[in-house]
Formats: sequence, C-alpha cells, structure tokens
Amino acid sequence: MKNRVVLLGPPATGKGTQAAMISAAFGIPSASTGAILREESRRGTQLGTQAAQWISQGRLLPDELVLAVVRTWLGEKKRFIMDGFPRTIGQARSFDSELQRRSLPLDCVYFLELSEEVIRERMLTRLTCRSCGAVFNETFHHVTPETPCPNCGGVLHRRADDTPEALEKRLAEYRELTLPVADYYRKSGILRSVDAAPGRDAVFHTLHEDMKEAA
Ligand SMILES: [Zn+2]
Repeated sequence: MKNRVVLLGPPATGKGTQAAMISAAFGIPSASTGAILREESRRGTQLGTQAAQWISQGRLLPDELVLAVVRTWLGEKKRFIMDGFPRTIGQARSFDSELQRRSLPLDCVYFLELSEEVIRERMLTRLTCRSCGAVFNETFHHVTPETPCPNCGGVLHRRADDTPEALEKRLAEYRELTLPVADYYRKSGILRSVDAAPGRDAVFHTLHEDMKEAA
C-alpha cells in the first residue's frame, strides 16, 4: 500500500475531492496548503498572519512560507496525501529534502490530466451553493443560477473567481509554475499520469486500485 502521495494537476480536475475520498478510504490524513493556511489564520498563529498579509496583497506565497506551513501540518505524520502541493519547483525540491531528512520518501505523485478546453468548460459552468457549499455543473447536473440547490434548497451562484479572466490567469500560472513540477517528478520516476476526463468515480477507482499496490 502507498502511504505518502501527492495529487498534482490543473484546476477543475477534482484534486480536492479525490484527496478527501482517498483519505476516507485508507485513513490517511490529507491537506491542501489553502486549508492549512485557513486553519492557521483562524487560530491567529504567526504563520497564519504572515500568509494572510501576502494573500491580501494578491501575491503568491513565497516557497519558504509554504514549506513552513506544510512542515507544521506534517508534524510527526508518517502517512499523508498532499492536495495541490508542491506548486512550484522550489517547493518540490525543499519538500524532497525535508522528506529525505525524515527518511519518509514519497511513494507516488498522481498527475491528474485534463485538456484546457475541458477545464474551461468545467470551470465556467460551475455553480456553488451559498448555504451548503456544494458545487454543481450546469451541464452535468442540469442546474442554473435560478435553480434551488439540489442538496439543501439554497441559492446557487457563480464564484467571483470563476470568470474567464481569472481562469486564464490561473491556467497561465499553472503552466509556468506547476507543470514543471510534473516533469521534476517524472524524472525521479514516481509520477503516474491519470486521465481526469472520465469524472469523479472513474478517477477514484483508478487511484484506489493503485493506492493498494506496493510503493
Ligand atoms: Zn446547498
């Protein structure tokens, strides 16, 4: 079985959902840097405050700060699923050294792949419930901003960062900073590409089967 994995991929590939499903199936703790930062910020820690300052200026967090945050979350954990981290080559290198120091190397990096055409389609037809936070796709789920939330009856809306401009910015950032991370892990022989197009359940099936295999 695999114990230490990274989920890598562009927006709209469902990394967060898959991380949660694998975490539940295998009892392995999972985290995204965003979630850790929100928790640090809520607790008012020094790291949380520092990160909030960068984010409020609309700037990317420095690699050193991201690493400090991940190190804090890792603590003494020997098993983990990282969702969307590392996001830059600098983070990947520092994370490798950190894990080497702990003698806990990564077992696998799952690279969820999706064409930019499908990413645009998925992101721009996405509606979020104001009450329960559930996310729906206008095409798959036959909902519109006028439909009540199928989960709870709440109001569905398009998130402010789901605009074409914001999406292009995220895609450019992804191509420039994160795509090289996939190459980095490919060279070290632990990258496994997974087609994210077939949807949540099919992707989970593939990941679940692979997680059961020895590292
Ligand atoms: Zn709802």
